Amino acid sequence: MRKVQAHTSSLDAYAAGLLTERRAAGLYRTRSILEGPQGIRPFIDGRQVLSFCSNDYLGLASHPTVRRAFQLAADRYGVGSGASHLITGHARPHHQLEEELAEFTGRPRALLFSTGYMANLAVGSTLLGRADTALEDRFNHASLIDAALMSRARLVRYPHADVNALALALQRSAPSRRVILTDGIFSMDGGLAPLDRLRDLALAHGAWLAVDDAHGLGVVGPTGRGSLESFGLTLGDVPVLIGTLGKAFGTFGAFVAGSDHFIDALIQVARTYIYTTALPPAVAEATRASLRLVQSGERRTQLLARVERFRRGLRELGLSFAPSAFAIHAFVLGSPQRALLASERLAERGILVPAIRPPTVPAGSSRLRVTLSADHTDEHVDQLLDALSRVLT
Ligand SMILES: *Cc1c(COP(=O)(O)O)cnc(C)c1O
Repeated sequence: MRKVQAHTSSLDAYAAGLLTERRAAGLYRTRSILEGPQGIRPFIDGRQVLSFCSNDYLGLASHPTVRRAFQLAADRYGVGSGASHLITGHARPHHQLEEELAEFTGRPRALLFSTGYMANLAVGSTLLGRADTALEDRFNHASLIDAALMSRARLVRYPHADVNALALALQRSAPSRRVILTDGIFSMDGGLAPLDRLRDLALAHGAWLAVDDAHGLGVVGPTGRGSLESFGLTLGDVPVLIGTLGKAFGTFGAFVAGSDHFIDALIQVARTYIYTTALPPAVAEATRASLRLVQSGERRTQLLARVERFRRGLRELGLSFAPSAFAIHAFVLGSPQRALLASERLAERGILVPAIRPPTVPAGSSRLRVTLSADHTDEHVDQLLDALSRVLT
């Protein structure tokens, strides 16, 4: 008994030390409690705020049509899926959604995953082994980095969007399997990856290109089919496409889309596919409804109009931050403390914009990350511009 206590208290001392370090570095993170549905006017810690920080870009997370589909499906299919896809968890709505996502992305097949994190781990560990090389943009999402780590391949991180550095790394890498992994739209600044040039390099070096379009699908491209569509790239250019459903689609889950053989290989060997419970079928049904809304394009048009207004407003205010043409906007402020202070000052005005700090972004580039939604009105955008002009100047 005493031994157990001693063990617990040494663990506690370790945890307390870690927390002290985090606090001292301005990196301590806290959670706020949201009441009611996700949206642009949530009640957080008992107070209604105007939110510019969710990834629900199209306002589908609590859209009436999506909710209704979820409710009906819960009556029909229950709540839990009960098992993994390979046991008895693969229900009709999962399969239909996979077929519809394949069609949406113009690929032979799509495979559902429980989260984007797991989809990326599946891609890394299926395509790469110890003798191989993963080449990753420095700004890639943590789950893409972990995908390479889990695969045990050699990991090369090239400077953000630096195709020359990537070319050099490719020349120097062993001629075994090489996969270039990149975000389509970078999650922390909204920038579009140079996919056309990455494709050229991949083809020239016999490497495979994998694009995680978590923030592009539903938002980017002439018909919302994502970053690949905006470059006119297809399966032959980018054999691996990863999408998430918890962002523009407003629901939950993720998918990988590619060739028949590739998808079948994932089903056979990807541990984060095999050894986990399938998404609830009602979530798949809700996502089918949100996919139809994504395809109608109406919400994307609305979002892009708000983005245009925001960009114009920033220009008029002379706030010269790297502007994105899409939903995510970064205001890089430097130290974690500066970013936190700016976020607090916006909060005083009832505006919710989080401070993004290391390790989510590189040291010295702590920032405010603003995201716009199709549900924001022109007035909301103007309110944000007014607050930013006071806080950032
Ligand atoms: C959010 C995100 C993920 C993770 O997706 P989840 O479904 O939330 O696990 C993966 N990649 C990128 C680029 C993301 O932004």
